[in-house]
Amino acid sequence: MLSVVFSATLEGAEGSVVRLQAVAESALPQVFVTGLPNTVIRESKERVRACLIQHGFDIPSRRVVVNLSPACTPKQGSQLDLAIALGCLGAEDMLPEGALDGVGFLGELALDGQLQSVPYALPLIESLEKVSQLHTIVVPHANEQDAALSGSRKVVLARDLNAVLTFLKTHDSLPRPAPYQSPTASKPIASASSLFDSITGQSLGKFALQVALAGEHHLLFVGPPGIGKSLLARSSAELLPPLDSADFKELVRIHALCGNGMVPSGDRPLRVPHHTSSAASILGGGNQRLIPGEASLAHGGVLFLDELAEFRRDVLEGMREPLEAKETLVRRVGQSHRFPARFTLIAAMNPCPCGNALGSSSPCTCSLGQRSRYLQRISGPLFDRFDLVVVLTKPKLAARNSHALTAAVAKAAVERAAELRLERQKSGVLLKPEKELKESDFIWFVDHVDRSEMSVRRAMKWLKVARTVADLNDEKQILREHLIQAQALSLQSLTSRGQGHWA
Ligand SMILES: [Zn+2]
Repeated sequence: MLSVVFSATLEGAEGSVVRLQAVAESALPQVFVTGLPNTVIRESKERVRACLIQHGFDIPSRRVVVNLSPACTPKQGSQLDLAIALGCLGAEDMLPEGALDGVGFLGELALDGQLQSVPYALPLIESLEKVSQLHTIVVPHANEQDAALSGSRKVVLARDLNAVLTFLKTHDSLPRPAPYQSPTASKPIASASSLFDSITGQSLGKFALQVALAGEHHLLFVGPPGIGKSLLARSSAELLPPLDSADFKELVRIHALCGNGMVPSGDRPLRVPHHTSSAASILGGGNQRLIPGEASLAHGGVLFLDELAEFRRDVLEGMREPLEAKETLVRRVGQSHRFPARFTLIAAMNPCPCGNALGSSSPCTCSLGQRSRYLQRISGPLFDRFDLVVVLTKPKLAARNSHALTAAVAKAAVERAAELRLERQKSGVLLKPEKELKESDFIWFVDHVDRSEMSVRRAMKWLKVARTVADLNDEKQILREHLIQAQALSLQSLTSRGQGHWA
């Protein structure tokens, strides 16, 4: 009997449906797989045969040909084991007629019949969900989280081959995944162990960090070495608002595609790639299959690039795309894929090779040429992507512990401001200066923009940052003080990079 079974394989970063046909013919007993199977699948027939024999099936009694279609696309992964096993049983008339109709299968078989978890299960389930003739998709119990995240009502869970066979023979129901619970609760911060609270002084830096995280504004810290730029950036993990279900779902998918076996925590991510990292590891790439990079692993959170000027040029230039489009486009021969990459970029750099050109009491020992070459490593368009540029200086002893902003207070304000921003985004109302500002402040704003010959783009950036500052203060209207505070967080300059100094 010809048996037909549905399963799925990974193509690029998406799931692709595989239609498996199996037929038994009078020839020497063996299982023969056709349709571009990779090594794992070719080995699968041995695994499947041993497993079925363990379960008391005398198989194969004849030659069973298993064809995986579409024949032209390469198939990979052990998730086809279960489908191959059932296809063989169907071909040998060992299953009730029509038992496999309308059911899709994913699962790797252990020799004792246990169903092992399948990597990249989420896109695989999603591809099977779209097949209209399927009413049920059987998934290993170990993939319950992927099953829940997919939101598919067709998915049922099985622990082993016996459970699947009983289900097919008796139509007994298999358990469904528990509904997905998004990790939304905000966690309190213990001040004693808080990184943010351990940083002394740097009130401007702390305020800038708060604004960046509340409004998803990209932030660059500039200053001499050893003044806490990195610590400040790393403390952003404490202030980030809770992760919402949409971002969590994307992160689960991204981690699954990385194939590192890691499950994202319920917190917004903070990723800190080293400056020697390749463009592929940060932006995504790979040879055999396309893998998302650090920019995607930071989705919904923070990507921190320490020593920004030391990063490879192709990395820095490649960053412009995710910063603009909030996704990375990875191209390889014959395939390309977009990975989500909406992150807040926080970067830190020295102002010059010796580090003393800005914010230091020691003199800069670099030549003009050295400073110029150093700054030119970062292109103008990349600099333009930073909404906030803050120069940090060595904190004065007197500034220590004086009414410092605490992590708990900063986090509460960030969460509230992020809520207000999301509400505004959902309502689709565009930010317009004439609506956001009262008349006198609007005139002051326009006058300032005109006098400083600010581009419309930069003026709107200023207004957006001021909107976040107002949100942090829980103010409906943007006040002049918010505009002034927002202005203090953006180093206008950077036009004289070519001459090697910060204006
Ligand atoms: Zn210097």
